Order: sequence, then structure tokens, then C-alpha cells
Amino acid sequence: MSTPRTVLVTGGNRGIGFAIAEEFVAQGHRVAVTARSGNGPEGTLTVKADVTDAASVDAAFAEVEAALGPVEVVVANAGITRDTLMMRMSEDDFTSVIDTNLTGAFRVVKRASKGMLKARFGRIVLISSVVGLYGSAGQVNYSASKSGLVGLARSVTRELGARGITANVVAPGFIETDMTAELPEAQQAEYKKNIPAGRFASPAEVAKAVAWLSGDDAGYISGAVIPVDGGLGMGH
Ligand code: NDP
Repeated sequence: MSTPRTVLVTGGNRGIGFAIAEEFVAQGHRVAVTARSGNGPEGTLTVKADVTDAASVDAAFAEVEAALGPVEVVVANAGITRDTLMMRMSEDDFTSVIDTNLTGAFRVVKRASKGMLKARFGRIVLISSVVGLYGSAGQVNYSASKSGLVGLARSVTRELGARGITANVVAPGFIETDMTAELPEAQQAEYKKNIPAGRFASPAEVAKAVAWLSGDDAGYISGAVIPVDGGLGMGH
């Protein structure tokens, strides 16, 4: 078993973030989640935070630090989509997705790095997507935000790698959550045809990879992009 850590997962009230928080609890860690609404799984501390607001992120960290100690593992999971073809995409559709998915991760990672530098230990995991490297028609905003996370993790690795801090990206494929439930049936069937595994994944399958990257055994893995996509993005 890995050393018990203080973990913060953004967007831990549902979907993939909820499953990640559950997995960390099951592995014996001290776990906090951020939520705008609702709560994290049993055994977690829920704090309010909107990742588009640096002051809100700062306050959430302060609350977690006071209750559970310095954050040693951070998972930037909060994300949104605003899909439409580029010709129809407004500038607000683009910037709001970047603001939540990419700048939101920056705000969270920057705040987390303070304590990690002091501790000379940290695990940063950014939840990207297969479409970050694969591309996706109708998701110019989302795909750009998700590939941006790769540059973020790799630059953080170069800046903080010598201080015991790792920064990695997990790139899920098609995971059964509210986000994907919104996609039309026909589009879901089309995706499934292209997935070598021939199925979608559960949020728990993403959570296992995130927990492993955050554990004692993954200290020499940094700047990596770990796909959890049933082979959908191979070669990218
Ligand atoms: P959901 O739509 O089910 O959940 C999104 C989570 O993000 C919610 O907890 C939501 O909080 C939170 N969130 C959104 N905006 C903000 C914000 N401004 N501040 C704080 N929290 C916010 O998504 P999934 O669980 O499906 O996705 C989680 C992550 O995984 C996302 O980054 C997504 O892009 C990525 N991903 C998902 C895939 C999938 O197939 N589902 C595939 C690849 C990547 P609230 O409930 O308050 O809105």
C-alpha cells in the first residue's frame, strides 16, 4: 500500500471525479473534493470551489489544509464541454471551455505547488481526454483545452521535477458519465465502432490509473500521457 496522503480532487461530486475520490478513500488516503453543488463520496471532505475563480480555489485549498493538512496529491478533473462546429462556435464557447478546463487546471496546480514545494513532494494528475491529441470535429474548444494540459504537465515537470513533484496527464476515452450521456445515440454507436476494446469504460477504470500515478510506485513517471481509452487514441 502507498503512504497515506492528503488528496484534493476537483469536480468530485459526480462522474469521473467522484470515482477518483472513492478510489483514494478505498486506498486509505485523506480525501477532499471540490464541488459547486452536491457532495463527494462517503469519507471525503467536500469544499466549495469554482475553478474559474482563483480566489475560490485558494479558499478551498485553505479549508482542506486546515482540516486535513497540506495537499500532497492534486487531481485537476473539473471540466466542461460546449460542443459545436467551429463555424458556429462563438468566442465565448471557446474561451469559457479554455477558462474551466485549462486555466482552471493552471489555477489549481499553481496553488497546489506552494505546499508541494515546501514538502518536496507532490503528485499532480491532470484529466485530459483522448481528443486532446486525436482531435474531434465539433470540439475545437474542448480539444484545444485538453491538449493544453499536456504542455502544462510537461512544463511543470521541467520546473518542479527536481523537488520530488511529478505531473502527469490521464487521457480517458469514452467514459460513461453525465458528460457522455448527452451525446446522441448514433454518435455513441459510431464511437464504439472505433474503439478496439469494443466498449465504453466505467469511471472506476480511470480512477485506478489516477491512483496508481499518485502512489509511491510512480515516483519516476512524470510528464507522461497515460491513455485509458480502450485503444481509441493509439499512435497519438
Ligand atoms: P461530468 O460532466 O460528469 O462532471 C464534471 C465535473 O466538473 C462536475 O463535478 C462539475 O461540477 C465540475 N465542474 C465543471 N465546471 C466547473 C467549475 N467551473 N468549477 C468547479 N467544478 C466544475 O464530467 P465527467 O466526469 O465525464 O468528466 C470529468 C473530467 O474528465 C472532465 O475534465 C472531462 O473533460 C474529462 N473526460 C471525460 C470523458 C468522458 O467520456 N466522460 C472522456 C475524457 C475526458 P458541477 O457538478 O458543480 O457542475
